[in-house]
Amino acid sequence: MPQLATRMGRAKPSAIMVIAEKAKRLKAEGRDIVSFSIGVPNFLPGEHVYAAAREALAKDSGQYGSNRGSDALVDAFLGHIEALGLTGYKRENVSTGVGAKQILYNLAEALLDEGDEIAFPAPYWTSYLDIAEIVGAKINILPCPPEQHYKLTPAQLDEALARKPRVFLFNNPSNPTGMVYTRDEIVALADVIAKYPDTWIITDDIYNTMVFDGVGYHNFVHVRPELKDRVIFVDSLSKTYGMPGWRVGFIAAPESVAKAVTTLNSNHITSLPEVITAAAVAALSGPQDVPAAKCAEFAVKRDRVYNALVSIPGVVWPRPQGAFYAFPDISVAFGKKHNGVAITSDVDFCAALLETKGVACVPGSAFGEPRALRISYSCPDEALDKGMARIVEFFAELT
Ligand code: PMP
Repeated sequence: MPQLATRMGRAKPSAIMVIAEKAKRLKAEGRDIVSFSIGVPNFLPGEHVYAAAREALAKDSGQYGSNRGSDALVDAFLGHIEALGLTGYKRENVSTGVGAKQILYNLAEALLDEGDEIAFPAPYWTSYLDIAEIVGAKINILPCPPEQHYKLTPAQLDEALARKPRVFLFNNPSNPTGMVYTRDEIVALADVIAKYPDTWIITDDIYNTMVFDGVGYHNFVHVRPELKDRVIFVDSLSKTYGMPGWRVGFIAAPESVAKAVTTLNSNHITSLPEVITAAAVAALSGPQDVPAAKCAEFAVKRDRVYNALVSIPGVVWPRPQGAFYAFPDISVAFGKKHNGVAITSDVDFCAALLETKGVACVPGSAFGEPRALRISYSCPDEALDKGMARIVEFFAELT
């Protein structure tokens, strides 16, 4: 029988999707399931987005488009990032893709030869590891445990960049921790980056509009504009506009990188569909009240989750300030039993929680931190409160 490519030995299905599928299956079997597993924003885009898509549908909208993204889309993205304070970019600095995930995959192909080093902090979004493994990169994981609020320190970054990795991959606000770097923290990391000119910096900031408590969103380019020739800013419509299934992602990057991604597009996706493009332009350039309202709503949900979890003795974690994730350290449960079942790891914990309480969370080990679990809290308040009450109950029943 013919063989699959060697790289497929390194490819695995997304751990988050596996849990989400299991939760879906149990629900279909009639179980009362609360799913905190998948990172969906759980709101719909504004009506103007649908109107633009409908209008495009009514035209001859089935043509191939630009490999980079249409001029209208690229210009809308440039306007959008200008409002974020990322100025001076031109069309040549931009490319688009089928969500940030495909953009990240493209970047891995474009920047990393087999054996090249990529460094990123843990906890990390699962696909960083999966993609780096598929392309055969050497991976240097920088552990950022709960004791340091899941944040990378300048000293850790210094040590990592001294090894001259080809790529440093950063994520702010963070999935899975919900942590957000302050301006001072970004300045301190940018000062380190400036010392090491041989490394590309990918900053995956797709949750940049979801920042609470007035911390603000800060980027290496904001604080050190000269880093623009090495920093690749990744953005997406998925979370900001409630459009995960529309699959639109972007980069603002040095011209050579945007061109490389565009060339790769020309060899696989060709282009984003025209109807999607029209909706994306409307989302980026239309009223911004939906993202602003959702950010305020998520801050309140964050409080509901935080208040429930801090009431549990032994569960410690920094208060998240962005995105819609909580990442509590639940290791206090390890070595205990629930309903006679031994809990020795995050995976045991999540399996028992799903089995006995019908609450689906993703084990922290999927993100490189086996002491924690991820709660994606974007669901409606009623489900959120029900799920959190069940988690509190689960802890109370540990013996
Ligand atoms: N980066 C991070 C940090 C994410 O959480 C996600 C989605 N969960 C992505 C990238 C991919 O987003 P998209 O839907 O645009 O592919």
